[in-house]
Amino acid sequence: MPEALPSNDGGRFTIVYVIDLTHYLDEKGMIAPQKGPARKLASFLTAVVAHASDFERPSSTPGPFCFKCRKRDQSVVDTAIDAQWRIVWFCPVCHAEGQISNWEHTFWDLSEVSGES
Ligand SMILES: [Zn+2]
Repeated sequence: MPEALPSNDGGRFTIVYVIDLTHYLDEKGMIAPQKGPARKLASFLTAVVAHASDFERPSSTPGPFCFKCRKRDQSVVDTAIDAQWRIVWFCPVCHAEGQISNWEHTFWDLSEVSGES
């Protein structure tokens, strides 16, 4: 499971998922977990990476459904890339948030594709 760091943000506690994407990929670079919560999380993470790294997408394109509360609220997360070139995401509904590192050069890194054209 991901390392979860509690952060005290103005009095409300949130869980920050700090994830190294390569931990969820096999040696071919595909999603490693075949089923269960880890697979669900890995699918969500790769969708976040594809969304955040596609610099040519219209800003109105919604992010992926939040893996925590999608069933209940159909909420989508906001994605961005921070100053350390980590991908960060945030769910405005359940306040889950995370950081993803080592996503560059995976199949879901769209930044190079759009940069070369
Ligand atoms: Zn959520």
